Amino acid sequence: MVKAYLLLGSNIGNRYENLHTARVEISRLCGQIITSSGIYETEPWGEPGQPWFYNQVIEIATALPAEELLNRLQQIETAAGRTRERKWGPRILDIDILYYDGKIFRTERLTIPPAELHLRRFALTPLAEIAPLLVPGSDGQTTGQLLERCPDRLVVRRIV
Ligand code: ATP
Ligand code: CA
Ligand code: CA
Repeated sequence: MVKAYLLLGSNIGNRYENLHTARVEISRLCGQIITSSGIYETEPWGEPGQPWFYNQVIEIATALPAEELLNRLQQIETAAGRTRERKWGPRILDIDILYYDGKIFRTERLTIPPAELHLRRFALTPLAEIAPLLVPGSDGQTTGQLLERCPDRLVVRRIV
């Protein structure tokens, strides 16, 4: 079993329900959920002028290799009704792998941790809530330190 952290996001439809569906399907298809952060309402990053997101980070214990985890997460996104659309645009469900077993991935399909994690308050806030001492990258910085140094000023407010 390896430890992974996933970022869930939704800004179309019933955002709360979409995150709930994601957690149910992740438990069924990917592994046990060990910890869940609160749910945050967040101002859209990268592409303004779209509805605000709900975001949440969960820790899972999984037996799946990272590529197979990604396959199943994409299957869950599609089953939730997500269609392939433009990058950073509105979506019913987005699931990103923030951390996988302390490993760094730079392949065609997988960048772990995501290259812009340190610039994304909407990801760092829920991650630091449940894993402040986790070191996601190769620079030795904890998520708590990354959040303290994060220059992103878009709104991130906990709602649940
Ligand atoms: P961003 O990755 O900047 O948050 P996005 O979530 O909008 O953008 P998507 O359209 O959901 O991007 O995914 C595009 C591709 O990103 C996927 O097909 C997948 O192969 C790739 N990808 C790379 N690294 C990851 C990762 N850590 N988690 C999920 N997908 C990843
Ligand atoms: Ca994303
Ligand atoms: Ca994604």
